[in-house]
Amino acid sequence: MLDRKFILQNAELVADNARRRGVQCDVARIVHLEQQRLEKLQLAQELNRQANETSKGIGKAKDNDERQAMIARGRQLREEKDTAQNQHDELEQEIIALQTVLPNLTHPDVPDGGEDDAKELGFGKTPKPQFEFQPLDHLELGEKHDLFDFEGGARVAGSGFYFLRNAAVRLDLALQQFAIQFLSDKGFTPVSTPDLALTSVLQGTGFNPRGPETQIYSIENTELNLVATAEITLGGMMSGQTLDDTDLPIRLCGLSHCFRTEAGAAGRASKGLYRVHQFTKVEMFAFTLPEQSDQIHEEMRGLECEIFDALEVPYRVIDTASGDLGGPAYRKYDLEAWMPGRGESGQWGEVTSTSNCTDYQARRLNVRYKTAGEKGTHFAHTLNGTAIATGRAMIAILENHQLADGSINVPEVLRPWVGCDVIQAKA
Ligand code: AMP
Repeated sequence: MLDRKFILQNAELVADNARRRGVQCDVARIVHLEQQRLEKLQLAQELNRQANETSKGIGKAKDNDERQAMIARGRQLREEKDTAQNQHDELEQEIIALQTVLPNLTHPDVPDGGEDDAKELGFGKTPKPQFEFQPLDHLELGEKHDLFDFEGGARVAGSGFYFLRNAAVRLDLALQQFAIQFLSDKGFTPVSTPDLALTSVLQGTGFNPRGPETQIYSIENTELNLVATAEITLGGMMSGQTLDDTDLPIRLCGLSHCFRTEAGAAGRASKGLYRVHQFTKVEMFAFTLPEQSDQIHEEMRGLECEIFDALEVPYRVIDTASGDLGGPAYRKYDLEAWMPGRGESGQWGEVTSTSNCTDYQARRLNVRYKTAGEKGTHFAHTLNGTAIATGRAMIAILENHQLADGSINVPEVLRPWVGCDVIQAKA
């Protein structure tokens, strides 16, 4: 959420920014409602003052008639004050609702446009594979090695759910172990997070648990929701807390399942594991001082690159365009891995995403920091980044590391956990 004072003082800039990010919102109405709110606030305060004065006068009334008249006047003033206060509260709610829709401000280097206008920033160390045979896609490889059961998943939970089997289970766990170990070595605290979170925490992190386009599964008759990412729980973990500036930055890596309805995703390339309703992810998260967040954003992007270089997967890095940033991100980098089985003859597919959310989430979650010897507190900055989303990482590994006989080379860094160098094709 943006600061209200900032919105009022920079209404045009805020409206331009929302337009650039493709977000429909009425900044002029916020300004108008805020004026009305202040008027109602002043009126309520004035009526309250008059009511108190009237009450004080009752004891000094000349006679019973005057006393009754003052009591009636006091009652009327309090009723009028309550009306003004209620009107004020309604205006406040309407302003908050409009304010909530406003996206974060945008880093000056973010390219303009939508999904196809991202700027390519560079490539990973591993070149695209040159197969001397017709490569298989991950579903065909899965069939060869008995790795996935989508039919069984659909029988249990509907289409988009699946069972992992055999080497896919070991690969999935190996990717989690590798990411947790890698990030622990880089100073991130590993945390295993709840898979459910309160509606207020979802809203605080900028996720909308309601509405036709929601990505969120909500538990009926409760305030609980299945998390779409550990970003939600890791952000929520510090809600309402005031941190010491000397403890920042706090770097966490959270392991969770992720649940997404994928509403509105019909028709988008989504074969097999690419777009499913449940997957497992190791997520980086940081609480920082404002002056640290740009640098930690670069650090997260660098770590994502290191992870995918270590997995020997070809990828490119993109700087997401303004219209594709969502609400909370000030800037967002994605890694797109080369997936030889995607599309007609291979395509890039998003495998990670890292966002600097500046104080947008912290303001909603009320996460602050203080400096010893200084008065007051300030909002922290928050950042998140995918270390590994196991499903898509597995697609990239299977499809890029396949051999002519259908065997799959296991990236060296995963071998200790997978327990073999090659997933052998059965005769
Ligand atoms: P996001 O939190 O939306 O930035 O997604 C983080 C990462 O999770 C993406 O880069 C993908 O690797 C993965 N991911 C997102 N949505 C899905 C999905 N529906 N199915 C499988 N993986 C997903």
